[in-house]
Amino acid sequence: MVEVCNTQVMKPLLEKYGFHFSKAKGQNFLTASWVPEQIAEQSGMDQTVGVLEIGPGIGPLTQQLCLRAKKVCAVELDNRLEPILKETVGSFENLNILWGDILKQDIPKLVYEQFGALRPMACANLPYYITSPILSALLEAKCFEAVTVMVQKEVAVRIAAKPGTADYSAFTIFCQYYAEPELLFDVPAHCFMPQPKVTSAVITLRTRKELPWDVLSEDLFFRTVRASFAMRRKTLQNGLAAGFPELGKEGAKAILSECGLPENVRGETLSIPQFAAISNAIYRRKNP
Ligand code: SAH
Repeated sequence: MVEVCNTQVMKPLLEKYGFHFSKAKGQNFLTASWVPEQIAEQSGMDQTVGVLEIGPGIGPLTQQLCLRAKKVCAVELDNRLEPILKETVGSFENLNILWGDILKQDIPKLVYEQFGALRPMACANLPYYITSPILSALLEAKCFEAVTVMVQKEVAVRIAAKPGTADYSAFTIFCQYYAEPELLFDVPAHCFMPQPKVTSAVITLRTRKELPWDVLSEDLFFRTVRASFAMRRKTLQNGLAAGFPELGKEGAKAILSECGLPENVRGETLSIPQFAAISNAIYRRKNP
């Protein structure tokens, strides 16, 4: 197998095809072989799994996924990588590379067509300029058992944050609504070429099979969450009144009391079931 993480191998390979890194495409290629090995190993792939990889680059993680999963489908935006991937992963018969933008794919359809009855998972060293849109698309697709990704460490910490901490945010709740996150390990900047400015981390999101909360309207739930975090350091009552002008301050106050919450409660301390209760109360008020 071509040792793609070895810079003595990588550099001549890139030179051979006149490849130059694109900052705009978020290209930071792994140069430490333990990283893709550990990502694939800890993601729990086996011969019952079909895995979607986003942004294979020159294929270090792709190789490790192909060795473990039954089938790998990799979506890559930059078709200058085609001849390089041919050399590094061309011999894997369980690999299919699709050329295009992951954000323009119909993910549930792709998963169904590529993996059939296999257990679908997603695994990637993500392009960091579109971390949130990709993660949102993967979770909203509601078809993966687990999503294991490398992201900026601060994003990983935010995804796994607990209520009441500085890192707890609307994005935390979005992710934890669909999945249970587990931080796996950190990856220092020197493990990449070119080196990113930040430390990275690998995180697994295990998708919830059944959502453990009753939410009457998901739209309203996420609107409630956004309204609560739009005005950090303000009380939830003010946040709700600003996010839902139709409620007014009195309506917001009534809703908090209906949910058994103190008047001066702050949104950033609430759990998902508490946000569910608030959004359900708003829903009932709108749909009596
Ligand atoms: N997995 C490789 C490369 C990671 S860099 C490694 O770990 O070494 C991120 C990769 O995502 C690059 O190959 C980049 O071209 C690709 N990429 C960037 N934007 C993309 C998009 N919108 N859809 C699919 N791939 C994308």
